[in-house]
Amino acid sequence: MSWSTILGHADRIDAFRQLLARNRLAHAYLFVGPAGVGKRLFAVELAKAMLCESAKSPRTLDACDQCDACLLVDAGTHPDLFQVEKPADLNEFPVELMRQFSHDFALKAARGFRKVAILDDTDDLNLSAANSFLKTLEEPPPGSLLILLSTNLDVQLPTIKSRCQMVRFAPLSDEHVRQLLRKRGIEDAGMIERLVRLSGGSPGQALALADESLWKFRRTLLQGFTQPKVDSVALGRQFVEFAEEAGKEAALQRRRVNQMLRLLIESFTDVIRLQAGSSARSAESAELPLLASLAQRAGHEKIQAILERCLETETHVGRYLQLSLVLEGLMDSLGQLLDK
Ligand SMILES: [Zn+2]
Repeated sequence: MSWSTILGHADRIDAFRQLLARNRLAHAYLFVGPAGVGKRLFAVELAKAMLCESAKSPRTLDACDQCDACLLVDAGTHPDLFQVEKPADLNEFPVELMRQFSHDFALKAARGFRKVAILDDTDDLNLSAANSFLKTLEEPPPGSLLILLSTNLDVQLPTIKSRCQMVRFAPLSDEHVRQLLRKRGIEDAGMIERLVRLSGGSPGQALALADESLWKFRRTLLQGFTQPKVDSVALGRQFVEFAEEAGKEAALQRRRVNQMLRLLIESFTDVIRLQAGSSARSAESAELPLLASLAQRAGHEKIQAILERCLETETHVGRYLQLSLVLEGLMDSLGQLLDK
């Protein structure tokens, strides 16, 4: 890894280069920007530069990529680089986790140099979890660096905001998203363009939706919705099975369902576009007849109601309700709306 692999944030890289050159790096930063635009990659690269043990002087933003410290960062096992995130199955950060982090971060650096922490998901810090590490944020060990990652400045607690320097990360250009998708081995030009359109400038989102099985199952659902009589029970069962294929962990299943709901929402949004006389944004050519048939079958208001039901389901999945009930309920409502 090096800065050359980070696309679309050249101005931010320059800013940090200058801060380091003038020895003006702050001890805590809040990186704010949409999910999947590269905040974490940026933070890890910055951490590596700070922890690099090559004999370069003065310290620069470029890690040597060869010393033991650099190799440990690349392997994700550097003892002085803390990467903390919210446990996937919880709504919020547990206070104990933050207390433990504060305690460990205050100990002497294992490699005798400095410590860096990257705290992800800080949108989900509640007041007590935040309070339990405010002192660390205010007076971290000398030379250490804390990087907090956030997607939404509005939900950040004032006590956090006031103790960090804020750095904003913008969505990437379509061309940068395209380049990153190609680098990740996606070759199908049609798929790349669909993903670019759906990504909102976030390569992370685009990559999450690049999974062929999502598109295949979307087609299964659309075919089900275009049958003379929608078999909601069968579709519900298939949706649950599709979720379970993600693995035993509930967090994995929820993530897969959310990705599928995203694609489903996009397809019904396309149906509305077709009804309004414009062209579909997310559909591959094989899906167009299915979308056209749905546009014929249900009026604008019904499709709107279906969309709302899908959006509501996203919220239910986020609230950790039982997945099978949520999905069977969704298929039941959609079947009723389409058959009416
Ligand atoms: Zn190094």
